[in-house]
This record gives sequence, C-alpha cells and structure tokens, in this order.
Amino acid sequence: MPEGDTIFRAARALNAALAGRAVTHFDSVFSRVARAGNDLAVRDRTIERVEARGKHLLIWFSGDLVLRTHMRMHGTWHLYARGAPWRRPPSEMRVVIRTPEYEAVAFNVPVAELTSGAELERAESIQGLGPDILTDAFDATEATRRIESRPDLDIGEALLNQQAIAGIGNIFKCEALFSSGVDPFTRVADLSREDIARIVERARRLMRASVAGRRLVFSVYGRGGRACRRCGATIARRKDGNDARVTYWCPRCQRRNVAENARTL
Ligand SMILES: [Zn+2]
Repeated sequence: MPEGDTIFRAARALNAALAGRAVTHFDSVFSRVARAGNDLAVRDRTIERVEARGKHLLIWFSGDLVLRTHMRMHGTWHLYARGAPWRRPPSEMRVVIRTPEYEAVAFNVPVAELTSGAELERAESIQGLGPDILTDAFDATEATRRIESRPDLDIGEALLNQQAIAGIGNIFKCEALFSSGVDPFTRVADLSREDIARIVERARRLMRASVAGRRLVFSVYGRGGRACRRCGATIARRKDGNDARVTYWCPRCQRRNVAENARTL
C-alpha cells in the first residue's frame, strides 16, 4: 500500500511538471470519469496545481474542477515526457492527462472522480480526514487528540486510521512504533498522551526524511524472522486486517508496558 510519503512525492513531481500547463488530452477507462471529462471539457482547461491530501491525490483544473484519485493498495501515478514508453501495460491505465510536454498516467487506481472544489470539501472521505502528517501546517496536538479519542483501537490500527491522522501507511506505522519502543498491539487506552505524541512525532520525522529523499534503512519492516539490529531478538510478524497487511515488531525492544520500556531504552 503506498504510504503518504509516496503520494506526497508523486504530487510534488506532478505539480512541478503540470501546474500552469494546458490540458491537451484527458481520458479514463472509468466511463463516468471519461464522460464527465468530456462534458466538462477538461481538455480546454489548465492544470492549476497537484496536491496530496492523506492518501488522496488531487489534480486541480481551472474553473474549480478537481480530479480526485485514491491509491488504495496498488494505484500509482507516473509522469512521462510526451511519447516516452509507459512502464506499465496499457491495460492497467485508469486515467491519462496530456499537456504539450508531459503525459501523466494513473495506473490501477481504484477510485477516481471529477468533482467541483465545493463538492470535494463536502465529501466524507476528505472532510473527515485527520491532520495530514506531511504538511507544514500539521497539527500534532489535534492528531494526538484524535488518536486518544479511539481508546479501544490498538495503536497500530489507530495510526492507520485516516480519520485520526492522515498519511501514515503500514511501513511507517511499524517503523515509528519501533522507534518509540511501543508494541503495535498496545491499546490506545494504555498509552499516555505523551506516548502518543512521541509516536506521532517519530512517524512525522521518518516520513519527512523519506520525502526529502533520504534513503531509510528499516529496523523492523520486512524483516520478520531476522535479528533486531538493536537487541538481536527475532523480529516478529503478524498478518492482520482484511487487506493482509503484515505488522512487524521487535518483541524485546517494543513493550506493552511503556513505562517500563522507557526506562530500558
Ligand atoms: Zn530489539
């Protein structure tokens, strides 16, 4: 599943290439999007900006029109110089936008809609989003409060809950919890506000480093069965949830009893 940092980077690259450019072609395999694109004459508009909001990628056109795509598990946006070959088969194309210089192609995005800005802000999927961890204006206090208000969730689940905090995916969930010394299956109710704030802060720091292009070495993610780099214990893995997401953690470095853990770290 793409993480917020991946979508943030994609939006930044698309924005740099497309903002201010006229659309010369717009098409989609989703008939509703293709029809709306035609009716609303997207190809006569200009791209104003591209932004990420949580895991939504928003492409704004002149005249208050916006294309919202959601990446879910396998969606991705590619940017090509006009005429360059695609790195994915045409059968995976969902939306394509051309400008004189570039071609932006969404592959395998399961969700795409063309809507007005006002409608977008009213949409439940956008309106309910928690603070976006990657934005400069990120409100850590509000994100912490929203996580705290879900006491029955495990902290691992709460970090992925886009209504609590937007933009964290499974990789940075695992890494931020390792970095904080907290077991992913600890109930939110068993964590102090300071614990939660620290986890949020670690997640943000890791994700911002990734967006800045720093190559990150994962401590636990994808390392099930191997030795913890910090303590040598075997990294645990557990498949959970309906999208077969795998949680990784170090059972020795990450405790449920956080107070005890803080003393040993
Ligand atoms: Zn360890």
